[in-house]
Amino acid sequence: MKRRIFIRNSAMAGAALGLLPISCAKSAPDTEYLILGGGISGLFLANLLEKAGKDYMLLEGSNRLGGRMFTRTDINRDVGGRGIGDKYHNLLPLIKETGVEMIDITDFMNSPTAIYMNGELQHPWPEDKVKPYMHQFMALGKSDYLPSLDAWYQSPKWDEPYAQFLMKNGLSEEEVAVADISLNYNDVYKTSAINAHHSRAFGKYNGSKRALNFKGGTIAFINKIVKTLKKPVLTHKMVTQIDDGENAVKVTCKDGSSYSAKKVISTLPFTTLRDVKMNMGLNANQAKAIQNLVYTNITQIHLAHTENYWEEDGIPLDMWTDTSIERVMNVGSSPTEKQIACWVNGKGTAFFDAMSETEIAEYTIKKMNEIRPASVGKLEYLGTQNWGKYEYNKGAYVEFAPGQAEWFLDMIRPAGNVHFAGEHTAHENRGMEAAAESANRVYKELIS
Ligand SMILES: Cc1cc2nc3c(=O)[nH]c(=O)nc-3n(C[C@H](O)[C@H](O)[C@H](O)COP(=O)(O)OP(=O)(O)OC[C@H]3O[C@@H](n4cnc5c(N)ncnc54)[C@H](O)[C@@H]3O)c2cc1C
Repeated sequence: MKRRIFIRNSAMAGAALGLLPISCAKSAPDTEYLILGGGISGLFLANLLEKAGKDYMLLEGSNRLGGRMFTRTDINRDVGGRGIGDKYHNLLPLIKETGVEMIDITDFMNSPTAIYMNGELQHPWPEDKVKPYMHQFMALGKSDYLPSLDAWYQSPKWDEPYAQFLMKNGLSEEEVAVADISLNYNDVYKTSAINAHHSRAFGKYNGSKRALNFKGGTIAFINKIVKTLKKPVLTHKMVTQIDDGENAVKVTCKDGSSYSAKKVISTLPFTTLRDVKMNMGLNANQAKAIQNLVYTNITQIHLAHTENYWEEDGIPLDMWTDTSIERVMNVGSSPTEKQIACWVNGKGTAFFDAMSETEIAEYTIKKMNEIRPASVGKLEYLGTQNWGKYEYNKGAYVEFAPGQAEWFLDMIRPAGNVHFAGEHTAHENRGMEAAAESANRVYKELIS
């Protein structure tokens, strides 16, 4: 029989595949391995199972694959993860296998940044004033590297509120407030310093020297991975319930369909997994982690420019500001392609959550014009990506609060026939490399 890839609205796809809801008494499960979530960890795992000749299916809740690797075609922007390092050992083999083209962005990624603070726009910023760039804060406690990539969850002595760590290293409360805008966390008083130590350790021990983006956007990579898959990959399958039975696990979706498998692999972020009814033997720390782990809120407001206003006023396009739009970045992938986005992190996202899209557009352009008079009449609003409110993720990446890292080893243990993958379950890496690491780990758990 000719093998086909199935990616479609699956009320129909179930019928096309001859998959009957589990309630129609059947003896054999629908598949051996049922992967929940079609982000990079789920797709990579599917690719590994495909190559091993295994029987699998993948269910994705939204109408597209890629998860947090998301090229929004309506605004022609990548709005999620897209930067990788040239030493991402877990992800690079898949990149090579698919033949997706990469762009080296190393030479232009550290563009000069202007600072707008207390109503004053300056470039360069005076030497005697605190510089609010993220790397300034990341560098604090310089010699204090974690001894290894996986030490973060085994080092209670590093597990303290990040603000406390910053203050121990000489920052005043005022400077901590500035750091809170620059650092990629919800709240430096509530997040653990261990997240930052792990990021620094990842930067050091991973050893990447070059930064790469996907040519044509991350969608190009995702589409190429999907082409390697011959088994059913179903979208519009929002999982609402998982029942682990003696011989099979039953997974029920919002549309009423259900599927059974010998093993289920959940790659769902804990922010959405906690909305799934789970009848399975979770251990105590796992249950706590699923309910309580926090993910960073990020809201990006994407703008287009009709003229290069930064050439007119001679100030860099990239800006750090102490206003509600927080940071302004060029998120383009080449020196000539400038793509402007205001990047708001953590607590600051609440300000925009309360606004309609029209209000966000008006407010942002007005604020940009106020800060950069040269931009008047040269900016257009494209769209907003609110990761905190995006129903399929409810946050950008996991951040551990003090005391939570000790749950880690328990939280990634299989619960009966249900295994856990995804960015949040990686021992060593961060971001897409973490997601890929988790796929490799679970593959070994399943196949050993
Ligand atoms: C703004 C932003 C910038 C980033 N920048 C970088 C970067 O530069 N470099 C880097 O390495 N990483 C970056 N990351 C992180 C990186 O994108 C993620 O770590 C990685 O893509 C996560 O992959 P995943 O498969 O673990 O999860 P996801 O991609 O989130 O996949 C999970 C999938 O599960 C689906 N799902 C959720 N709930 C259900 C349900 N109930 N039923 C069925 N399906 C469901 C979701 O729709 C999603 O497709 C960034 C992330 C964001 C948001």
